[in-house]
Amino acid sequence: MRTAICPGSFDPITLGHLNIIRRCSKIFDRVIVCIMVNSSKSSPMFSIEERADMARRACERYPNVTVDTSDILLAEYARRYEGAVIVKGLRAASDFEYEFQMDLINKNINPQLETMFLTASGKYTFLSSSVVREMARYGADLTGLVPDELKKEIEEKAKQWRPNHG
Ligand code: ADP
Repeated sequence: MRTAICPGSFDPITLGHLNIIRRCSKIFDRVIVCIMVNSSKSSPMFSIEERADMARRACERYPNVTVDTSDILLAEYARRYEGAVIVKGLRAASDFEYEFQMDLINKNINPQLETMFLTASGKYTFLSSSVVREMARYGADLTGLVPDELKKEIEEKAKQWRPNHG
């Protein structure tokens, strides 16, 4: 069975992430969306449980996709699934530089581990979780950026993060 692992912070999951997950689910037998406790993004808007819950609901429509969380190194996590491949989305040259470096680090820890890239859909090239958080903070409409069923709770949560809140 060919397994893909789609890692990220998913804070929150966006339509850009889902585009990669959906395409990946057609190529691989099984896809694991792995929500990482990412120390370089120190103050997430959503807890890891909230991020996982939103991702699970958004991925329900894809039968071979499951959502997991991890607080260990990705290269170690991937050892749990024999022959698993990391799949990431590439939006811009800046993503490439970072991802290239990550792949080298991962291979240092786990030399068997391969990383593959899917290019972002033109529609979502400029979409990131941070864009969603920023827009939500200012009360902007999130239609077309996140799954419809998650819009309300993202908007609600963002109210607590607004400038001059309270
Ligand atoms: P973000 O950069 O939005 O905070 P994550 O750290 O959660 O996202 O990224 C998880 C993975 O999803 C990464 O491989 C990232 O390149 C990819 N990704 C994020 N947004 C998009 C998008 N709009 N199109 C394609 N891939 C994306």
